[in-house]
Parts: sequence; C-alpha cells; structure tokens
Amino acid sequence: MYNNEVQLGFGAMRLPQTEQNNPQAIDMEEFTKMVDHYMEQGFNYFDTSYAYHNEKSENAIKEALVERYPRESYQIADKIPTWLLQKEEDNERLVNVMLERLGIEYFDVLLIHNINKVFINKAEEANTFEYIKKLKEENKAKKVGISFHDKADLLEEILEKYSDILDIVQLQLNYLDWENPRVQSKKCHEVCIKYGVEITVMEPIKGGTLVNIAESVKDQFQKYDDSQSIAQWALRFAGSQENVSVVLSGMGNIMEMKENCQTFKDFKQLNQEEQEFLMHMAEEIEKTVAVNCSYCGYCVKECPMNIPIPDFFNLYNNETIYHLQANMALYATTATTNAPASSCIKCGKCIDYCTQQLNIPELLEKVVQHFE
Ligand code: SF4
Ligand code: SF4
Repeated sequence: MYNNEVQLGFGAMRLPQTEQNNPQAIDMEEFTKMVDHYMEQGFNYFDTSYAYHNEKSENAIKEALVERYPRESYQIADKIPTWLLQKEEDNERLVNVMLERLGIEYFDVLLIHNINKVFINKAEEANTFEYIKKLKEENKAKKVGISFHDKADLLEEILEKYSDILDIVQLQLNYLDWENPRVQSKKCHEVCIKYGVEITVMEPIKGGTLVNIAESVKDQFQKYDDSQSIAQWALRFAGSQENVSVVLSGMGNIMEMKENCQTFKDFKQLNQEEQEFLMHMAEEIEKTVAVNCSYCGYCVKECPMNIPIPDFFNLYNNETIYHLQANMALYATTATTNAPASSCIKCGKCIDYCTQQLNIPELLEKVVQHFE
C-alpha cells in the first residue's frame, strides 16, 4: 500500500467542550456540525475508546453519528481499556459496555488499548488477543489490532507472536518522534512493514506540540513554503508513510476540521526534499520543547494528588518558548483549582500510563522550580 488512499480519521479524544475543565461536557452542537462536515467531505473513520472524555466519547459518537447515519456509511474503531483487565471475563464485560454506549452491533476496528511493557502483561493474562480473534471470527469486529506506546523491540516481540491475529497497529507517528530514541516512530514503523500490518496513525501533531512551535521555527517553515500551514506539514508527513491507511486527528473545532479535510481531499505525498526538510525542522523544534508530552491525559486519572500534569507541562513548554507573564498567573490559577506540581508525592503511579515514556515526577520538579 503506497499511498494515495490514506484518509483523515476523526479522533474523538479531544472533542470540543462546553466547560474547559470538564472532559465529560462535550459540546454536542459543535461536534455534530463537525461530524456532518467530515461525512460530507467523503471521510468516514471515527476513532474512540472506552476511556476518552472520561468515558463519554462513545456516547457522543452514538448521538452525533450512529443515531443519524446508516451503519454502513461509517467505520468505528474502539479500544478495550487494557488497564481495567483483571480476569478473562472482563474482556466481554467491557466490550459489551462499549457496544452499548455506541449503540452498534459490531466494530469496524477493535484495538487493545495502550499496549506497552506493563499493559502487555495484563492483556496476555486476560487472554485478550485470543478474545479479539474470536470476535473477528464471529464478525463482531471486522479488523483487530493494538494501539502501541512503547519501543520497537517490544513491538517486534508482539508481532512475532500475534501477527496472525492482528490486522492493524495504531502507532504514534510524527516527524518530531521519527528519530526520537524514546518513542522510536521510525523503527516501530519498520517493524510494522516487516510484518505487513496496516498502520493507523495517532498523534500526527503530537497533541498540538507541532503547531504551537516557536516563532523562529515558524519563520523557517514560512520561508521554505508559505502555501502550507504548519499542521498540513505534520499531517502530510504521517500520511506519506508506507502502509498508513488512516491519519487520526483530534480536531477541536470546525475550522480545524475544514482545513484538515482539505489536506486529505487533495493529498500530496511528501517528496524526498520535503521529507529531509522536516527532519531538519524536527531538530529545530526539539531544541525548543522542554517536555515531550503529547497531552493525552492518561496519567491524570492515576494521580492520587489530582495534579493536572499535562496542563503543567504545556504551560512549562509555553513558558520556555514565550516567557509570558500570563503563564505565571495561569499556573497559579490551575494549581489552586486542582493541585500544585509540588504536591507530587513521587508515588510513580503515573509513569506506567505515560504514552511518551516520561519520568513525570522528575519533570514536575522542573515545573516546581520554575513556577513555584
Ligand atoms: S508520581 Fe506524582 S504526579 Fe505521578 S501519580 Fe504520583 S503524585 Fe501524581
Ligand atoms: S505526561 Fe505522558 S501520559 Fe501524561 S499527558 Fe503527557 S504524554 Fe500523556
């Protein structure tokens, strides 16, 4: 597969909200408009999970999509929350909840969520690979796979064992992480090619990191080609890689949605020179990003101290680039409303959940030093 057929996937992890600090308060009016525009433009792939928006993403998709469009006109990818698997029966229990929340009878794609060196054990102990294989045989899942957040060695081990079961690997793939030794996007991509699995891409813009870049870096993009937006570059990079069938984007409003649809309606594969330019820009961005957080939020629910970890990392990154007085004030407000970074008790509970393999308590120390 190489690659005029790549489509834009609608990621339902960062939907518009009516209340900024309440992930369950999804702005259904805006979301419904976005669904309509996305479908009108000829796209049809929706990606959700049991966990997104504090377990309300699936319900929102039911309301905006499932109850308003014929089943055969869209595809839904959903994910089993691996961290909730205690025993084999949990597979079926969780999947039934997911089907009910979505109001559907079958999944187009069913993934085991957030596979890393810790959660692979949970999935194996609960026999989840065998379970998704059975669902595929029963036509309750057309394709099955994993969403993966670890290094290439582990991915290779998993595909060596399970490539006869797995159709899809959902991979974090963007030009900033391509050569990053912690994330190993490129090496993971090579493993997927070796085992011939389809790739769906998550985090092509790295939760906004590749859009909120320093002015000096923006200038270099402009100078190279002022006809493309910064987001377009990132989406084109992801969509240009071999075996990629879908590039997910977590669009927060209708404007972003319109721009992204346009990029994929008229998709232009990167040429060699552009690819090399982006590798150079990755080095430039790397110099300015203090914490490589993707803003996925998986760590937050695990924190017994209720620390808004990604908000603090986001502020810290912003501060290292822009040095705005407003960041100090925003830190103070966020710390008062939730909890300050210094309330971290270093229990380490968040670390296993971090999709970017960050040492969160250590990085929070830097936040404390800067803001407190
Ligand atoms: S190490 Fe700190 S940030 Fe992480 S879960 Fe524990 S208290 Fe929260
Ligand atoms: S610290 Fe890690 S788990 Fe938490 S939001 Fe950032 S990338 Fe996600």
